[in-house]
Amino acid sequence: MEVKIAGYNVDSTLIDDINGKSESFTPEIISASYARISRDPRNIPELRKEAREAVKKARKSNEKIIFGLGHSSVAEHAVFNFDIMGISRLAVEELESFRLASFTEKSQRYIKIGEDIFIPKEIKECSLEKEFGDVMNFLSDEYNSLYKNMLYHGEDESVAKEDSRYILPLAVTAQLGMTVNARELEYIISRLASHRLKELNELAEKLGAIARKIAPSLVRYPQAVDYFSNKFKIRDKIDKISRNFSSDENTEDVRLLSETKDCDNFLVAALLFSSGDIGAEDAKAMALRMSIKERNDIVQATMGGIQLHNSVWREFEHAHLLFEVVVSASCFAQLKRHRMATITAQPYSERLGIKIPKSVERCGAAEEFKRVADVSKRLYEKVRKANSFAADYAILNANRRRVLFDINLRELYHFSRLRSDKHAQWEIRELSEKMSKMVKRKLPAGAVLLGGKDTFGKLKNNL
Ligand SMILES: Cc1cc2nc3c(=O)[nH]c(=O)nc-3n(C[C@H](O)[C@H](O)[C@H](O)COP(=O)(O)OP(=O)(O)OC[C@H]3O[C@@H](n4cnc5c(N)ncnc54)[C@H](O)[C@@H]3O)c2cc1C
Repeated sequence: MEVKIAGYNVDSTLIDDINGKSESFTPEIISASYARISRDPRNIPELRKEAREAVKKARKSNEKIIFGLGHSSVAEHAVFNFDIMGISRLAVEELESFRLASFTEKSQRYIKIGEDIFIPKEIKECSLEKEFGDVMNFLSDEYNSLYKNMLYHGEDESVAKEDSRYILPLAVTAQLGMTVNARELEYIISRLASHRLKELNELAEKLGAIARKIAPSLVRYPQAVDYFSNKFKIRDKIDKISRNFSSDENTEDVRLLSETKDCDNFLVAALLFSSGDIGAEDAKAMALRMSIKERNDIVQATMGGIQLHNSVWREFEHAHLLFEVVVSASCFAQLKRHRMATITAQPYSERLGIKIPKSVERCGAAEEFKRVADVSKRLYEKVRKANSFAADYAILNANRRRVLFDINLRELYHFSRLRSDKHAQWEIRELSEKMSKMVKRKLPAGAVLLGGKDTFGKLKNNL
């Protein structure tokens, strides 16, 4: 066996410093040489050498193999790192909805926010720039005074930072690092270019311009697509249909809507299936005939020796859980980072109200918080008449939305370890705790170790 390093991401400033040679630093070389692996008997370093020495040829070969033959996964071998700055939290929500990329973002939880507000083009176009700017300045002042008020009332600095941000709008800017492969990047650009928000169109343009320059053969179709942009019109139509039905007005934080039928048994059946030589139906029948103790013994056997950073076995993915949750924008910002779940969010709705942190109540600022939220609500309504999408820039971190959260039990373990832990932010921790309780009732065997990192040892000792 031989293992060689073929490449790794290098800071672009170092690449720029090597004058005149930058073309040969394109990630297209790795993609082009790996694309040849399946049909060229030469060893991989030779294929890379050839691609390095003839970049034009490598580009042609990429175009033929990726776009001509449709062997698109080859483009995944080329990876980009982007610094993205001065982007609104609203735009970040969209960008971070892409699951095959990695993001690290400035945290409003740990960093005190300055007056960094994004003024959208849509607001300028509907002549609301002055009013929008005034409300944004007002919110920024309120954020600062809430922060000071909390410190004055003896709240910890970390709590003051973490909770005063609930009054900040989604127009606040963020910065983030994004690592993404060429295939996903092309998809991201196309979707953002087709979006109704101009800020996202601008982001698409900027990402596309950089990617096309570095790797023209890998990012070939980074443009708006009718199929994606029509989605917004179709949503408007579907929304009109749903308005004819009366809503159940659910505002509960979390409901478990459905789970895999007979899920504990199903998990045992999956383990019998994967470890033995019986068909799935027989495994199911066998699991049903077992006593509770026999089933528990099988599930717990898979957990023997498990450590804090180990996942439970893949068979746990066969147990699916569908939740409806109602969370603040602040909580959603964290929830959406879980890429191994299927997350469908509704637009923000004023009808679902706002989440006021307990610390705000403790320092007697809840009524003032509501008054401030009313100011942003009035701006939201006003902008909404001119542009329903741009109105979301006025949404506060405290505003709530409904979300469908579909996750399998294996990933729920990961989620609960991070989010039920004592270091987790309080709103998502409460959510995660409620989810775990509900799931433990449905899957007493399979969900036995659900809990935060801090309770892992105790739960394991109880097995
Ligand atoms: C206390 C705390 C503080 C945080 N602070 C910040 C912060 O300041 N800034 C910030 O941006 N984020 C922050 N986060 C979010 C964090 O970085 C993760 O994005 C989030 O917790 C989702 O977890 P995940 O990436 O492990 O899992 P998921 O996205 O849910 O994925 C599940 C698992 O799949 C695997 N996986 C998924 N994608 C990949 C991949 N591309 N490569 C390899 N493995 C993959 C991993 O095993 C991962 O654990 C914080 C999270 C916590 C709990």
